[in-house]
Amino acid sequence: HAQRLDGLGTTIFAEMSALAVRTGAVNLGQGLPDTDGPDSVLEAAVDAIRAGANQYPPGRGIPALRQAIVDHQRRFYGLEYDPDTQVLVTTGATEAIAAALLAYVEPGDEVIALEPYYDSYAACIAMAGGRRVPVTLRAPDFRLDLDELRAAVTPRTKVLLINSPHNPTGTVLTDEELRGISAIAVEHDLVVITDEVYEHLIYDGGRHRPLTAYDGMADRTVSIGSAGKTFSVTGWKIGWVTGTPEVVTAVNTSKQFLTYVSGAPFQPAVAGALALGNDYFDGVRAGLQHRRDLLCDGLESLGFGVHRPQGTYFVTTDIRPLGHTDGVEFCRMLPERTGVVAIPHQVFYDNLDAGRPLVRWAFCKKLDVLEEALSRLTKL
Ligand code: PMP
Ligand code: GLN
Repeated sequence: HAQRLDGLGTTIFAEMSALAVRTGAVNLGQGLPDTDGPDSVLEAAVDAIRAGANQYPPGRGIPALRQAIVDHQRRFYGLEYDPDTQVLVTTGATEAIAAALLAYVEPGDEVIALEPYYDSYAACIAMAGGRRVPVTLRAPDFRLDLDELRAAVTPRTKVLLINSPHNPTGTVLTDEELRGISAIAVEHDLVVITDEVYEHLIYDGGRHRPLTAYDGMADRTVSIGSAGKTFSVTGWKIGWVTGTPEVVTAVNTSKQFLTYVSGAPFQPAVAGALALGNDYFDGVRAGLQHRRDLLCDGLESLGFGVHRPQGTYFVTTDIRPLGHTDGVEFCRMLPERTGVVAIPHQVFYDNLDAGRPLVRWAFCKKLDVLEEALSRLTKL
């Protein structure tokens, strides 16, 4: 195989989910909900198939979905977009990330990303021929050090790849951090790709602030969203990009030749989902916050060091209080010993030491599944 695939191996999510199936373990590894999204949304996809939405849809997405994305950005953030030129529907946020990096990264360009990073970032930067430059969010708070970010910029820096709410740490970037990122991007004329797929999963009354809304950002930002998390339909793979017409055209130029278009029958269903009332969005948040607290409290009483997340559906723990030091070894041992699967943070780092003692658990699961996992973990 080509050099660009060196070191990419198998995604940790596939490895750990296979291990869960093989050992019959409770899977708190991969972030996939065990309850599907609302019936009305599921029915809409079935209806769309019956009504004949089974051939290639328009390349940028069906008009109803592009309009629904525009309406969503206005309703939640007061942002205005033209549905014809400023919105692109993609095959999940994963494709949006790949297409955006391919659109902006020249071979040898540096891409600064917040570490730990979601594993497709490293792979897509490599496939685009870029060089990744990590800025590490460090335990216990996982805050962004703006001086460290500023120091990471070189004349080769092309792109900042930001993710908030952040997988796997659960950090939600503050207004001050976002202002700092914007100032650096403007000063060095950088493109900013911002992965905001967990925008609706923020707890304790916090709220999401889109990076593109900051001074000087609108014309340099590729904003990425997804239906998978908010509507618990991760298998549908419907995501989107919003930005200036130039940004959307650039990303679409590579998207066209990756997948051409994205899942026809899911698009009208996601359009309907985005228009659901506030009670839907509030309910998702409340349900997940309850699950977060159940899992965090349980892990705490088992002796883990728990970093309670502000957003996402992942909690990070430190395994050292339990006498373990290496998260990869711990996660390989865990299914056999206890019947539970989790994800080692280390796979999200270049600076392996920073992630070594950390383990991530997903709480987008039924309450009895979380309780079962906690009871199994007493075997540790
Ligand atoms: N970005 C982050 C930070 C994620 O956690 C995920 C979840 N897999 C994705 C992107 C991918 O989203 P999608 O399933 O829409 O491709
Ligand atoms: N985003 C999810 C996670 O981090 C799923 C990842 C995936 O399936 N590629 O677990």
